[in-house]
Amino acid sequence: MAKTVVVKQRDRFIADRKRFFTADCNYIKISKKDILKKFGLMSLATRRMNNSKYTEYLMYLAQFLNEENKLVAMDCSKKYKLQKEDIVERLIEGFNISEKTVENFLSAAKKENLLIREKCDRLTEYVYIMNPIAFNQGYTNLHVELLEYFSEDIKKFISPYQYDICLKIFCVDYNKYKNIDCLSMVDTTRYNVEKIINGEMFKIEGAFKETKLMSWNKAKELFERRGITEVIGLPLNIRFNCIFHQDENELAVVISNNKKERYFCKLDNCVCGTEYKGLDIFDMIAKLMGIENEDDKFNLAMEYLANLYNVQIEKTATSIFNEAPSESDPKLASLKENDNIIELYNEGKPLESIAVEGDRIKSLIKNLYLKDNPKDKETAKVFEDVTEYLTYNMDNSNYIIDKDTNSDIIGLAGITNLLANSKHNLSKDLATTYISLAKKANILYQDGTAKSAKYMVNPILVNDKLITKLSKNTFLTFGEQTKALFGNEAWFNNVVAYYKQNGSREDIQRLNKAAK
Ligand SMILES: [Zn+2]
Repeated sequence: MAKTVVVKQRDRFIADRKRFFTADCNYIKISKKDILKKFGLMSLATRRMNNSKYTEYLMYLAQFLNEENKLVAMDCSKKYKLQKEDIVERLIEGFNISEKTVENFLSAAKKENLLIREKCDRLTEYVYIMNPIAFNQGYTNLHVELLEYFSEDIKKFISPYQYDICLKIFCVDYNKYKNIDCLSMVDTTRYNVEKIINGEMFKIEGAFKETKLMSWNKAKELFERRGITEVIGLPLNIRFNCIFHQDENELAVVISNNKKERYFCKLDNCVCGTEYKGLDIFDMIAKLMGIENEDDKFNLAMEYLANLYNVQIEKTATSIFNEAPSESDPKLASLKENDNIIELYNEGKPLESIAVEGDRIKSLIKNLYLKDNPKDKETAKVFEDVTEYLTYNMDNSNYIIDKDTNSDIIGLAGITNLLANSKHNLSKDLATTYISLAKKANILYQDGTAKSAKYMVNPILVNDKLITKLSKNTFLTFGEQTKALFGNEAWFNNVVAYYKQNGSREDIQRLNKAAK
């Protein structure tokens, strides 16, 4: 067989070559992450032969590998390719085994695609090539021609995205078109597709500069309208190479219809299905992320897109309202028995993660004060500490009491006193300012009219100990803000749904108010 003449079209895929290949384009660079992965794969690969002796023979032969992972040896200062008789001779000598054993080993290695034999330029000569996942001579490089023989294993070795690019470049350079299931995307989309595959964040045009609060429906509409072109970066109404299969004929197109973008590929059995419905942005994200068979793929895609667009999706009262409590949740039983106390089941939830929300609220009061008194940093700091102090002075329902005198729930005058007599020494005016800002910052909730009001402290602020229970009243008052205490969102949503369904009118009103 005549040696293939390789004419590398270096002007194609320049950026990818630079990123993934050595300068001469003969070797694929292996990333640090993948180098580590190699050792695990190596043992998996050799185990395929199901014989530990064979593994030893294979590793013994690895010492003869050249840079291209071919078996060669030196003879009279001339390199030559090891032929079968050379291998037999060496293994018999090295391990004191029979020729038959070597034969068995070679056929097992060939069967498992770990050591294969290919014809050489000269008709009678062969070359033995070792699968790089068994052993790769280049520590940080992989000879590109190995893709031809071991593509399935190399696919597990390097990242899918890099694999895909390398395979495409290999096909172009070596003029080989293999029908391998892979993504072969148009150049402009590559960057985004890689990020999406890995679930990473990246900048997109059209993302909001500041977090934008949006209803679920509005957000869904937005993503449907512009997602495929903006997020994936595919052109509209222009044919291009399908990103879901090896495609040299530009079989794919994105079309916008009824304010919804859809992706189509002409190839049967590609992504459009028999009804030729195409894919919307949610289908595409799910497919790229490999979550297409998961039940909540739509929600996961929504969440991912919301992050990319810097959109915060409103959990409106109505959206939660429509969700019935999930009866299959065993935690619901205890709530039904006594719905004045909510068990939080937050075991294992690190306090730090709960403290994040609490700290946010604490710094909020500081900032609110600084807004009106930009120079008075000292008092702003005191306000932060006062919040901490109040969390020590609460009863089981989070109402403020005077812990030292073991008093009943105290009102406005009582709290003013408490703050004046504390080590913070707040004057009456400052105490009043504090209370009014604390209400704004959702630190305190005023229950009742000013004269007879009780004050409740937001439970999320108590971050020095794990809270295991929440009173119904506290929950209804602070609603969404207590979510971090619940350990998992599903339980939180279920509790909301429970009160929406079983609470009194007053309960529901209170919860709706908290949701705002
Ligand atoms: Zn396709």
